[in-house]
Amino acid sequence: MQKNYTLGKLFGISVQIHYTWFLVFLLMVWSLSTEFFPINYPGMKSSYYVVISIVSALMLFISVLLHELSHSLTARRFKIKVGMITLFFFGGIAHISDDKLTAKSEFWMAIAGPAFSILFALLSWILFKLVMVFDFVFLEGGSIVLFFLFRLNLMLGIFNMFPGFPLDGGRVFRSIIWWVSGDLERATKYASKGGRIFAYILIGLGILEIVLLGSFGGLWFIVLGLFLRSIANQSYQQVLVKKVLEKLKIKDIMKTKFDYLVPEMNLSDVARKIARKSSIYYLVLEKKKLVGVLDINTFSNVKKKERKKTLVKDVMIRPEQTKGLHKDMNAFGSMTLLLKKNYLFIPVINKKAELVGIIEKRYVLDLIQGQLDLKK
Ligand SMILES: [Zn+2]
Repeated sequence: MQKNYTLGKLFGISVQIHYTWFLVFLLMVWSLSTEFFPINYPGMKSSYYVVISIVSALMLFISVLLHELSHSLTARRFKIKVGMITLFFFGGIAHISDDKLTAKSEFWMAIAGPAFSILFALLSWILFKLVMVFDFVFLEGGSIVLFFLFRLNLMLGIFNMFPGFPLDGGRVFRSIIWWVSGDLERATKYASKGGRIFAYILIGLGILEIVLLGSFGGLWFIVLGLFLRSIANQSYQQVLVKKVLEKLKIKDIMKTKFDYLVPEMNLSDVARKIARKSSIYYLVLEKKKLVGVLDINTFSNVKKKERKKTLVKDVMIRPEQTKGLHKDMNAFGSMTLLLKKNYLFIPVINKKAELVGIIEKRYVLDLIQGQLDLKK
C-alpha cells in the first residue's frame, strides 16, 4: 500500500507526506477554527476563523518541513547522504544515512533543527510586534497567525531539545558523550535512558491531566510517551546489533548445515525426504552450485498423482541473488542487504562458485540475540 505521497524536491531532496497528515490537517483546521481561535480572539466572523486556521495549519507544515530541511542541509555539509524527508502527523523525519556519522557531524546535524525552530519563533515574534506597534489593522489576521507561529516554533524547538534519544536533544546529548568518551555504545545507552525518562514524564503528565483535570487531552501525551519509549529502546538495540555485526565476518554468521535437493529428483521423493522438516524453502544444488530454490508452496499447486513425474528443476525458482557473497566479507553489510531487499537468504560461495553456506535472517537474529543476552 502506498503510504507516502511525494510532493516534490527541495534542494534535490525528495519531500513526502505520510497519508495520516491529510487527516491531521483537517482535524487541526477544525479544532483551531471552532475552539482555539474563537476562544483566544472572540468576536470575528466564523469564515474568518476558517481562513486563518487553514493558513496556520499550512504554516505548521512549512515550519516542520524547514526544521527537517535544516537537519538535512547540515548533514549534506558533512557529506552525509540524505535520502528524503517524510512528514508525519507528529512531525517529520529526515532519512539521513548513519554510516559516516561522527560525533561532530551528529552534534551539528541534530542541533540545526531546533536552532532553526527557535530562530523562526524569534523572527515571528519580531514581526508580530512590528504589526502590533504599527497597528496595521488590516493585518489583524496576520498578527494572529504570527503569534501562533511564534508559539508553535518555540514549542517545536523546546520539545525537540529534551535530552532523550532519538529526539534531537538526545542526539546532541549522545554526540557530546560520544565526543568526550569515544564510545558510541555507551553514549547511546545513556541517551536512550534519557529518552525513556522523557517518555515516562510524558505518560505521567498525561495521566495527571486526565485524573486531575478530567481532560482527555492527556491521552495525546500518553500515546506520544509510549511511542517515544519504544523508539528509544529500538535505537539502542540497533546500535548494539551494528556493533556485534561489525566485528564479525560472513563466515561467523553463515549457516553451513542445510538440507538440499537435486534438480533431477521428483516431487514425491522430495515429499518423503522433507516429511518431517519445517523449512519453507529448500536449496537445489547441482555439482555443489546453487541452481534454484524449491518453495514449499509448490506442493499445493501440483496434484498428488502428478508428483511422481514432476521434477524439482521443472518447478524450482531461480533466485535473483545467485551471485553470492564471499565468506570473508563483513557481516554487517550482508545483513543490511538481507533486511533491505527482504531476501529469505543470501548464498555464500567460494572461488569455484560452489555454495559453502547461507546467510539466513532468522538464524542471524537468533545469533545476535544470544550475543545481546550475554551482554546484559
Ligand atoms: Zn529535528
